[in-house]
Amino acid sequence: MELRLYNTLTRSKDAFRPYDASNVRLYVCGPTVYDLAHIGNARPVVIFDVLFRLLRRTFGAHAVTYVRNITDVDDKINARAADRGISIRELTEETYHWFRADTQDLGCLPPSVEPRATEHIDEMRVLIERLVASGHAYVAEGHVLFHVPSMPDYGSLSRRPLDDMIAGARVDVAPYKRDPMDFVLWKPSPEGVPGWPSPCGIPERGRPGWHIECSAMSWRHLGETFDIHGGGIDLVFPHHENEIAQSRCAFGTNVMAQVWMHNGFLTLEGEKMSKSLGNFVTIRALLEDWPGECLRLAMLSTHYRQPINWTRQGIGFAAKTLDKWYRIVGDEPAETGEGNPFESEIADRLADDINSPSAITHLHHLAEVAEDVESSSALKRRFKGAANLLGLLTETESEWRARQRAAVAVDAAAIEELIDARIAARKARDFARADQLREQLVSQGIVLMDNKDGTTSWEVAR
Ligand code: AMP
Ligand code: ZN
Repeated sequence: MELRLYNTLTRSKDAFRPYDASNVRLYVCGPTVYDLAHIGNARPVVIFDVLFRLLRRTFGAHAVTYVRNITDVDDKINARAADRGISIRELTEETYHWFRADTQDLGCLPPSVEPRATEHIDEMRVLIERLVASGHAYVAEGHVLFHVPSMPDYGSLSRRPLDDMIAGARVDVAPYKRDPMDFVLWKPSPEGVPGWPSPCGIPERGRPGWHIECSAMSWRHLGETFDIHGGGIDLVFPHHENEIAQSRCAFGTNVMAQVWMHNGFLTLEGEKMSKSLGNFVTIRALLEDWPGECLRLAMLSTHYRQPINWTRQGIGFAAKTLDKWYRIVGDEPAETGEGNPFESEIADRLADDINSPSAITHLHHLAEVAEDVESSSALKRRFKGAANLLGLLTETESEWRARQRAAVAVDAAAIEELIDARIAARKARDFARADQLREQLVSQGIVLMDNKDGTTSWEVAR
């Protein structure tokens, strides 16, 4: 089996050869912990979990280090904690708690390390001082900025035309920038905002920019150069481009990670998910109505690089499939490992750039084989072992049945009443109340669609 992965750096599907087969190293950008994760955030979590499982099977369970960070210092966190009137620590702990519960319910293995940005400030300072010492960064008005023209091949990941990058960077022009594309490594913290002693002899307290956090955490846990770096497609520019610039310039290396993988975006019932549109659904709200395994199967039914249109119909279809598969395997245990030919067939399909839709099509075929009246329990065990490689059928049929939730009857009149109250609150410009009502609806799994003419339509997100 040859593992081939699509690499955003080379724009081609290449054979994967780790630097060190006894320690295969994977880094994935994790959540900024200020709010419940939405179903789009579940996509990198699930897809890189499948990659983690495949790497463990290929190189050995102890030969893979998977790092997924927690961004617990960010201006969005500060703003949200202030809004809610709670401490930053309370907010980040609460959000992390929910994120961990979400990922568990989605059937994901815990990563090998979940580093927190606030525990890696020393590494960030070391990197920043190195960048300044080598002429790649400079201090200006309490800030430290990365000087983009100091890196001749800056932009090689996103391959954006220079004009585009300059236009993008103009969004935050600051008088102290030497070049419009220069980006922040460190900035001063005013009173009341979290801060740490600054690098480079800057007297004021300060806090890191977002990009330097990932360079520091990947360095500490995976080294200067590692194998695979992942995240959603929106992170290619500027986040990943800037991580590459920082790490390569700090260490004088030609690569930060040899393979860069990016998942496509998820849209909700055909529309971009957005808080301002109100069509935004959290993993938690979906888990109220569906076992996480249904969300996982629905997610994996589309290839990770394609966009997903997330629909209730798709989850319903996944639920029916799982119901059938659990009926077939009953309470048989799974047979896992190289000796299981079904598992190898699934591994072969996943080895082709994590082709999960092809693996699922093949599982349907294997299900038929295992379902045959003549089938021995060995075939059922093999089928279950094959599904386990995708993180599916990890329970017994009895556990699955016990977990199934009764369909939630939706009281349409009560929903309309809440929607009317929200419209009235918005008219009265009481946005806090309007948001609170929206949260209440979302927590019941209701997806709101605000229309241009001021009306709101709704659907149950299931
Ligand atoms: P954030 O907390 O916004 O930084 O996002 C965490 C992860 O989720 C990143 O890898 C994003 O690229 C990814 N992500 C955010 N929104 C979506 C979406 N709608 N579809 C797929 N991935 C997403
Ligand atoms: Zn990152």
